[in-house]
Amino acid sequence: MTVSTNHFQDTLQQLTAQSLRRSLLPLESATGPIVSYAGRPVILLSSNDYLGLATHPEVVQAAIEATERYGAGSGASRLVSGTLPPHASLEATLATFKGTEASLVFGAGYLANVGVIPNLVGRGDLILADRLCHASLIDGCRLSHADFRVFRHGDCAHLETLLGRRAHHRRTLIITEGLFSMDGDLAPLPDLVGLAERYNAMLYVDDAHGTGIMGATGRGTVEQFDLERRIPFHMGTLGKALGSYGAYVVGSHDFVQYLLNVARSFIFTTALPPAIAAAASTAIAVVEREPERRARLWANRHYLFNGLQHQGFRLTPTASPILPVLIGDAAKASAFADGLLAHGVYATAIRPPTVPEGTSRIRFTVTAAHTTDQLDEALEAIKFAGRETGLL
Ligand SMILES: *Cc1c(COP(=O)(O)O)cnc(C)c1O
Repeated sequence: MTVSTNHFQDTLQQLTAQSLRRSLLPLESATGPIVSYAGRPVILLSSNDYLGLATHPEVVQAAIEATERYGAGSGASRLVSGTLPPHASLEATLATFKGTEASLVFGAGYLANVGVIPNLVGRGDLILADRLCHASLIDGCRLSHADFRVFRHGDCAHLETLLGRRAHHRRTLIITEGLFSMDGDLAPLPDLVGLAERYNAMLYVDDAHGTGIMGATGRGTVEQFDLERRIPFHMGTLGKALGSYGAYVVGSHDFVQYLLNVARSFIFTTALPPAIAAAASTAIAVVEREPERRARLWANRHYLFNGLQHQGFRLTPTASPILPVLIGDAAKASAFADGLLAHGVYATAIRPPTVPEGTSRIRFTVTAAHTTDQLDEALEAIKFAGRETGLL
């Protein structure tokens, strides 16, 4: 046996021993409120397809038509082989939706973050990031070579202390998520904007989870806090509430032109397939045209939140359809997830390094597509699994 295969096995054994091993759960159906696993229906409570748009007939039809017209793949980077109509149309749709001059579509949120952040700051600059920022934001920070500090989650007083302590740095970038992916709470955006303005810092908001669901018309957390005029650019993704794949950055025309000249994860990667871009455009149209989906999402969110609280579960201070039940121990969280699946509910255990040590959890998410009957059934299953795991 070679050294490397030992290393692979050792690592896997270690992860197993720490209850941190990850594995894939093979489904036999499309994603949706009900999925098929091992030949039986299971209620899915961990998808980010908050509005059920991944399987919306019009969104699916748009993908089919774009494939028929423009092919399965884009052929190359858009800078190399041209921008296809679905890409141009998606960027125009995003800019209109967000009320900005322009937008740029990336292959994924991960790619947007690692592409944009190193072009906002570099060596000699300072990044101040919320402690719970997503791994893709952290990786973008690393690639930038800027000095990096974290402030306590949502703690503007702590951030201000760090801003006051700046010494020799040229530029400062504050990074936050709009709606935090693993806790479901909102960033204190008005205060963050205030601090950025007062201390002459830039603010980078990742609205991966807010896009499509937050704000009066679903434009996201920036709309929710009425800050569209004070936040000159931000990013979000197309793979969560918009049910497709990819990511966007919105901002000024110059900012977008700058990014497409410098962002390596835009330049050196193949463009999104036409089907994906067309699906995302159509999903935005559906968000605008069917506000009842958001209403249904929030009604479901309150229903499941109340149900979980009534059963005695400890939830994070969430303000969204992300409902994390805090457990702490990774082994216990995994056991709970296994129990849930046995009782017909699929919701994964979220463990380090996705969340900080000692804060393992089941991150329940609810969507507009769940029916009340399904949620009642899920709550029963959650109660049984919770009792069996000794959580209730
Ligand atoms: C999911 C997520 C991303 C990554 O987006 P993808 O399009 O899935 O690569 C980035 N940031 C946050 C906060 C996310 O939750």
